[in-house]
Amino acid sequence: MPRSVTCAEALADGAAVLRAAGVANARQDARLLLCYVLGCGIETIVGRSEQPVAADRRDRYRALVARRADREPLAYITGRREFWSLDLAVGPGVLDPRPDSETVVEAALASIADRQRPLRLLDIGTGSGCLLLALLAELPEAHGVGVDAGRAAVAVARANAGRTGLDGRACFVRGDWTAALDGRFDLIVSNPPYIRSADLAGLAPEVARHEPRDALDGGQDGLDAYRSLAPELRRLLTADGHAVLEVGFDQAKAVAGILVSGGMRVTAVHRDLAGVDRCVVASLA
Ligand code: GLN
Repeated sequence: MPRSVTCAEALADGAAVLRAAGVANARQDARLLLCYVLGCGIETIVGRSEQPVAADRRDRYRALVARRADREPLAYITGRREFWSLDLAVGPGVLDPRPDSETVVEAALASIADRQRPLRLLDIGTGSGCLLLALLAELPEAHGVGVDAGRAAVAVARANAGRTGLDGRACFVRGDWTAALDGRFDLIVSNPPYIRSADLAGLAPEVARHEPRDALDGGQDGLDAYRSLAPELRRLLTADGHAVLEVGFDQAKAVAGILVSGGMRVTAVHRDLAGVDRCVVASLA
């Protein structure tokens, strides 16, 4: 084994390991991991291809490549995920925010007539805090609560409130969803677990083996969370407030049906960038 390798060699080795493990964007991920270890930007690595990688960095890089080859999400390894232009921390035990969920933020903002109002926001099953923090970043007078049953999620969400400078207006609490909450909220958002239990094992290994099951498993038909949420939304929404719920690719109709049966009015369904119905907006009937 050579004592040192160049960046180009490290990249080629890492990409080969990842490709063999079935990682889709093997070279890109290898490049991101090498940049992470070297502490440099992705654009500078090209100019460094013949530079040596110090042995300690090389070993660290190989260890991270091995984690990625075990199909751990890249964001868990680097500890970072960009969401709605916020640089968020993520890690094991917390759902890695998806670009699809930005549709919830868009839909929630579209439901608000006056963004300067001192709105009260609630994010149920907040995970990394991504939805609540993105909304607070856009609504300068709003305050919000994020609840999650997971200890890791609440710790990460609190850290993200600090990182984004929104901790003065965001409060994250650990709880069995809405059980301990009282009062009413102008805007309630949620990306609840919505995968059918039987479909979980067939998801990408990154999701199935590494992401928290509690954030994904929506029960036999994937809709359990919506059935428990519906009465809670009625209890917790203000008269002119809106609830914006993320849904699975084929669930918008069923979720709208659950909300309507629960006495709510469905006011809109929004599509994600792929054209899939991604969230349902509802208000008190
Ligand atoms: N969007 C996630 C996925 O496809 C699921 C998130 C959820 O269940 N809320 O893996």
